[in-house]
Amino acid sequence: MTLSTESDNALPLDMTIFGGMGDLAMRKLLPALYMAYLHGNLPGSTRIISTGRQDYDRNAYLAHVEAHSRSFIAAENFNDKTWDGFLQLLEYVRLDVQQAPDFGALAAASREGAQRVFYLSTAPSLFTTICEKLASAGLVDKNARVVLEKPLGTDLASAIEINEAVGKHFEESQIYRIDHYLGKETVQNLMVLRFGNSILEPLWRAPNISSVQITVAEEVGVGSRAGFYDGAGAMRDMVQNHLLQLLCIVAMEPPTSLNADAVRDEKLKVLRSLRRFGLADIARDTVRGQYSHGVSGNQEVPGYHEEKNVPPDSKTETFVALRTFIDTWRWSKVPFYLRTGKRMQRRSSKIVIEFTNPPFPLFPDAPGGVANRLVIELQPEEAIKLQLMAKEPGSGMHMQQVALNLDLQSAFQQRRAEAYERLLIDVVRGRLTHFMRRDELEAAWEWADPIIEGWSTLGEKPHAYAAGSWGPAESFALLARDGYHWVE
Ligand code: NAP
Repeated sequence: MTLSTESDNALPLDMTIFGGMGDLAMRKLLPALYMAYLHGNLPGSTRIISTGRQDYDRNAYLAHVEAHSRSFIAAENFNDKTWDGFLQLLEYVRLDVQQAPDFGALAAASREGAQRVFYLSTAPSLFTTICEKLASAGLVDKNARVVLEKPLGTDLASAIEINEAVGKHFEESQIYRIDHYLGKETVQNLMVLRFGNSILEPLWRAPNISSVQITVAEEVGVGSRAGFYDGAGAMRDMVQNHLLQLLCIVAMEPPTSLNADAVRDEKLKVLRSLRRFGLADIARDTVRGQYSHGVSGNQEVPGYHEEKNVPPDSKTETFVALRTFIDTWRWSKVPFYLRTGKRMQRRSSKIVIEFTNPPFPLFPDAPGGVANRLVIELQPEEAIKLQLMAKEPGSGMHMQQVALNLDLQSAFQQRRAEAYERLLIDVVRGRLTHFMRRDELEAAWEWADPIIEGWSTLGEKPHAYAAGSWGPAESFALLARDGYHWVE
């Protein structure tokens, strides 16, 4: 069949959300769709069909949305008239994905000739059956698109299984594997910074760049997600997807165009060039941690073992720090330090590019440490700062680090959309650039699997770190060994 790719919203849109009563739908997807509607970014004839097993009628569903989703829309974006208009787009279909006949009700609610988007916001164990039954119900046509939420598998084998199953019914160009970090304005801006300017490119390599740090720190603990999280851990939940995707954007070669495959080809090359870990590398270059009781935001908070539904003997890591290398000419010998954790001192996601110090120490009063850093802050605020050395006013040649601040907030009057809103609009318009291709996902698992298996072979317990801290001491030692420290 000839597939439709980038589209111009000519068709009416039927967006079906599996897991339409779930946490993600309430907190992120419906508010993002509301924002897209508010700004005129949904096709004129749009319907959002939420599905779930609850025996609700449409009014009961709308009441659920009022109660559980509306509060996630910022007050300045909310207005009653638009909200009422948005609610008009919503339908509810009671459907158990295990029951083929239930898909008949979905087929009845779907419009012939519409652009059908199926957002699978359920556990991935349901993806296979959902795709099979959608196809059997005749709902997968050449215009259909499917959005897959992470985690896509727990290892390479399970990821292949899901990809094979979904691929039986959808062509690769119809599959949108979402990683919401790729929808962040600053992450997309990093591509513009790198490839829309020529001054950085000659510097963007070894030996001009001496190290790269990528941190995704969460202040929250495992909360109510222990049932899922304890079987996954930070490596599967964060490193294999979000952190590796950020690493790819930092490290990729310039693509030949913004075409989705051109960009994804370059990211794939990075993933395939990541150095593999043997047991000795795992012992030396990775740190696992698990939070213990501590203080977060002035409040005492429980340790991971005291959280609801966490087994008392759980060795699941809530923190990972590691050092890795990309074996290419550009990145030869440049360490990439990745770090993520729950219950860390504060929510903070950033990429820090450290440049090599001047080769000759001309200024005797120069402070030690790294002179130049490019800091790309992703959370809680988005910002890009270039740290340079400058002369302190006064006599003598005293130097201080100052930041050249790329203040995007004041440079642009335009609103900055949330990642889910931007990515949902991309799905509707058929833009695949900021979604993961199958081979990327599998290459990421190929790199991560031996590390996870190695931890299991080594059998060590994760290092304890106090909730509200920046993680275990071993994580600081990992960088100190090379003469670096984490930039908080
Ligand atoms: P959730 O609150 O548990 O929702 C999952 C939904 O799946 C429920 O609404 C449930 O609907 C539906 N479901 C389960 N079995 C079903 C069946 N047999 N037939 C039909 N529907 C069924 O989970 P979530 O937090 O929204 O997460 C959804 C997916 O997104 C997960 O894969 C998760 O890992 C991923 N994700 C979530 C977040 C987040 O912030 N929540 C972030 C990133 C990724 P009913 O009970 O109403 O039938």
